[in-house]
Amino acid sequence: MSFAIGLQCRECKATYPSEALFVCEICFGPLEVQYDLAAAKGVVTHESIAAGPNSIWRYHDLLPDTGVGPVDLGAGWTPLRRADRLAAVLGVRELYLKDDTVNPTGSFKDRVVSVALSSARRLGFTTAACASTGNLATSVAAHAAAIGWPSVTIIPADLESSKIAMAAIFGGTVIAVEGTYDDVNRLCAELVSEHPDWAFANINLRAYYAEGSKTLAFEIAEQLGWRTPAQVIVPLASGSQLTKIAKGFRELDELGLTTGAAPILFGAQAAGCSPIAQAFAAGDDTVTPVRPNTIARSLAIGNPADGPYVLDELRARGGDCGSVSDEEILECIGLLARTEGVFAETAGGVTIASLRQLVNRGSIDRDQPIVAIISGHGLKTLDAVVDTATVTHTITPSLAAAQSVLSPHLVMETSS
Ligand SMILES: *Cc1c(COP(=O)(O)O)cnc(C)c1O
Ligand SMILES: [Zn+2]
Repeated sequence: MSFAIGLQCRECKATYPSEALFVCEICFGPLEVQYDLAAAKGVVTHESIAAGPNSIWRYHDLLPDTGVGPVDLGAGWTPLRRADRLAAVLGVRELYLKDDTVNPTGSFKDRVVSVALSSARRLGFTTAACASTGNLATSVAAHAAAIGWPSVTIIPADLESSKIAMAAIFGGTVIAVEGTYDDVNRLCAELVSEHPDWAFANINLRAYYAEGSKTLAFEIAEQLGWRTPAQVIVPLASGSQLTKIAKGFRELDELGLTTGAAPILFGAQAAGCSPIAQAFAAGDDTVTPVRPNTIARSLAIGNPADGPYVLDELRARGGDCGSVSDEEILECIGLLARTEGVFAETAGGVTIASLRQLVNRGSIDRDQPIVAIISGHGLKTLDAVVDTATVTHTITPSLAAAQSVLSPHLVMETSS
């Protein structure tokens, strides 16, 4: 059963039933799902969780009520990989990669979509929709296809061709908007009122959608033997993932399921779209919108909805926020692949490059454990690397030609 008891305004704390609501009727603040953690304590245990499926739904007690079964393609329960070879290059002692590249549609968005569409089905919606920087569209279209729902996904027109193909293959309606993600988001906010039976995963279902990100915290804790990691670095788009990772660790602590302090959270942004990093550095409480210009398109949200809440979480325990160039992003996609065998999309390059930056700055403690969220698969942004990741040699089909280009001792280059 779910211990969710309703929705609560993040600003004025007014409460609402678990219905199709997303803004507070009193102060227009965003709503968040609330749980009866006192009732869950002692009922939700390490054993009850371990008895569940190898997906996010092993934590169904701490997720929104699904009514009947969840809308489920198998999101979550992704590997937490110890990354000693990358750690050695970065000069840190204990590094783990939370490898969300292996989700059903290749990104962390499967977690949030599975939760959002489960709630959408319970609430009587009939069409799945979203405003997306690419990965969300793919995940919404896939989960909708799996339950026979139509989908309408709206994306900026300049996305990577691989992301457009991945969104379109599931047969839904994909609309490309000649504008930025922030233009797409504005348009979708207008469409919400025109189409009351459409579940926009990240708009009118946002309170439910966001809960899916908590499962990253739940899995990391469980995979570390219910010990919290000292430090977690998270890529930022709207900022929802980071704030809900923080919420997830808090809920586990309240339930008495973890040992160790709440992790220090760190953000990762591309310099070409770093409104949160800029606000953090300036000591501001609000985020000034920017116009994105970066290869990390999945993170290219110039006006992040959860920006102020991210600033609070970063400052709560002495975190920081990285801001890295497109060159560093590409370099670190390669570094991660060469050292650990994990091929990440541009967002993963942002996370690893920011990790390196914050270690060098002294914000991240190199002697304490670190978890880095690798949120999307490299096949999603092949366009970004096709010019640099190329064949080593091209030869005629003869042994002599092969020998002439091969040195007798092949050396794997890891550092750069
Ligand atoms: C959406 C996304 C994120 C972060 O999303 P938030 O809006 O901050 O929750 C991170 N990585 C990838 C690959 C994404 O698609
Ligand atoms: Zn309110």
